[in-house]
Amino acid sequence: MTAQMEAQLVQLQACMYQYSRAIYRSIKDLIDPYAEAAVQLESLRSVLEQCEQTMERLAADPHYFAKPDRALFQDIRRFFPITAQAQVAWAVKEGIAAAVGFIEEQLEAGALDGGVARCRATTRKGKPCQRTPLPERDYCPSHQHLERSLAAA
Ligand SMILES: [Zn+2]
Repeated sequence: MTAQMEAQLVQLQACMYQYSRAIYRSIKDLIDPYAEAAVQLESLRSVLEQCEQTMERLAADPHYFAKPDRALFQDIRRFFPITAQAQVAWAVKEGIAAAVGFIEEQLEAGALDGGVARCRATTRKGKPCQRTPLPERDYCPSHQHLERSLAAA
């Protein structure tokens, strides 16, 4: 990883931290109000930790983290009373959607590429392949057959 890429990753993680704080703030008052103070404190700490871990994972691996909002909700729902579940689910969904939108903007702007070459192929899902091409080639190992067929044509 280049120094430039590292700097961008640090910046991205700082932004993701803001998103995780925003989710935390929107749900922290919904934690079981009848639990003992010590239990409440422990729950708050766990919820904050889970929010941060989710964001870290999202920042590190935005392409392969499926349904991050559901994953986070599953991890923290036990800290909230049944009457607050729908509100927590909604807040998590909104907060994660904002973070995912932000990451996608960054990716589209090429902020995370750091000038690194990308394979020129398109995946089966119609998205640009994110893998690194073979040295002095335009395609990655799984798409190198495309280069050969172009050369043959
Ligand atoms: Zn490829």
